[in-house]
Amino acid sequence: MKFDLSELPFDLNALEPYISKKTLELHHGKHHQAYVSNLNNLIARTKYKDFNLETIIRVADGTIFNYAAQIWNHTFYFDGLVPGNNNKLKGAFAEVIKNNFGSVSFFKNLFIRSGVSLFGVGWVWLVLNPDGSMEVIQKSNAGNPMRVGLNPLLVCDVWEHAYYLDYQNRRQDYLEAFWKLINWEIIEKRYNEFTAIED
Ligand code: MN
Repeated sequence: MKFDLSELPFDLNALEPYISKKTLELHHGKHHQAYVSNLNNLIARTKYKDFNLETIIRVADGTIFNYAAQIWNHTFYFDGLVPGNNNKLKGAFAEVIKNNFGSVSFFKNLFIRSGVSLFGVGWVWLVLNPDGSMEVIQKSNAGNPMRVGLNPLLVCDVWEHAYYLDYQNRRQDYLEAFWKLINWEIIEKRYNEFTAIED
């Protein structure tokens, strides 16, 4: 199948001042788009042209895996954001987070610290383990937790292209800003979808 660039769920300037229009123009319009174009070109004459994106991520290696995972990771990242800085982690899902991490503030610090300490480029994830517990993990480059049977709930892109125009080398400032934009309703929905299957 031919893959398309997913649309952003908000306007390009909607995340300002935390993430600028200029960053989103490049991040979505150039980087994300390039991963889509490159994967379509690479798989055109291979068996992968008949696979969906999740399957390619699970079975492919090398460059094809890298482009497929980068497409999926970016869509998941953008879809998890919402404008406004009034997105509080609350209610039933906040209780789930407390049960797994002790407190919301411990979880926040762990997530941000994991993003800051990831060496080089990659992604920091909140994942749901098969036993129902949650974990914060780092993945380098295009790494994706579905590859190892974990269910992704939340991701932050810590490649420099995600923040360098706005924050230069201050990755922690970017992660603190990212935190203000997380759409917790979407994250909770993802969690409920995974846990509903197990019931
Ligand atoms: Mn990116």
